[in-house]
Amino acid sequence: MKTDTEEETAKIGRELAPRLSAGSVVLLVGDLGAGKTVFVRGLAEGLGIARDAVSSPTFTLMQEYRGGRVPLFHVDLYRVNDPREVEDLGLDEIAADGVLAIEWADKLPRTVQGAVLVRIVHGDGDSRTITLI
Ligand code: ADP
Ligand code: MG
Repeated sequence: MKTDTEEETAKIGRELAPRLSAGSVVLLVGDLGAGKTVFVRGLAEGLGIARDAVSSPTFTLMQEYRGGRVPLFHVDLYRVNDPREVEDLGLDEIAADGVLAIEWADKLPRTVQGAVLVRIVHGDGDSRTITLI
């Protein structure tokens, strides 16, 4: 899919939400500024969480948003250099309780079975190509 605005990217996230339930994992891959956080905002909105609640986790690896149909756990691995830090997060346990969305999922030490993979490629200007697998 191709988007030309932030809103269109958020909409794709919003439309993915009904397909997700506790235990679902969404892996987001794409360069800095590609639109991964924008996508997660849309996802949050689709789950019934205020999209403003979603920010880029800067100092914490994970943020938790409640008040929607299911809790949303939002992880950003951008600053992670050591795979052991990822292990320490205990993502497997967290995932069971809600929807887990992971930015920079290419830094995960191993793949997650059954996860939805969202790849966002930055094109010219505001265009983005989004692939959901
Ligand atoms: P990431 O989390 O991948 O680093 P962000 O979602 O934080 O990226 O930022 C994406 C930036 O690109 C935002 O400033 C957003 O407004 C801008 N943008 C422009 N066009 C698009 C688009 N088509 N889809 C998503 N974001 C876009
Ligand atoms: Mg981000």
